[in-house]
Amino acid sequence: MGITEEQIKNHGLKVTPQRVKILEYIKRGSGDHFSAENIHEYVKKENPNIPAATVYNILKVFTERGLINSFEVNGRAMYEGRVEPHINFYCQSCGKIYDSEIQGDLKQIESDVKGKILSSTVLVRGICEECLTAEKENEIVQEI
Ligand SMILES: [Zn+2]
Ligand SMILES: [Zn+2]
Repeated sequence: MGITEEQIKNHGLKVTPQRVKILEYIKRGSGDHFSAENIHEYVKKENPNIPAATVYNILKVFTERGLINSFEVNGRAMYEGRVEPHINFYCQSCGKIYDSEIQGDLKQIESDVKGKILSSTVLVRGICEECLTAEKENEIVQEI
């Protein structure tokens, strides 16, 4: 049995080929964030008849069981394989999502409420480095 199958079993779920495929896709390339549509498109390549509802259900169950993390951007659910609590940075200019490595502030929350964080949906909005650089270059062009 592969690692992905084990993970699914260890979280109390039945192993199905669709679940394995979706979990593998989300877990590989750590630091990637996906919409349900992204994931559906990917699964459809091999399994063209899979309904979107099936994919949404799998994502819902995975999130509930803590296999993946989910948070919202502009009212749209995003999914990621990284389940350790962290803060996501959303670039309003290009729409990319970056992981922040800040841990201390989340630990502070745990000590404030004397509890334990299981997942985090914290989203910070801003402009990423790439877009900031592009903006600056644009300004220079405009000045000329
Ligand atoms: Zn950007
Ligand atoms: Zn993230």
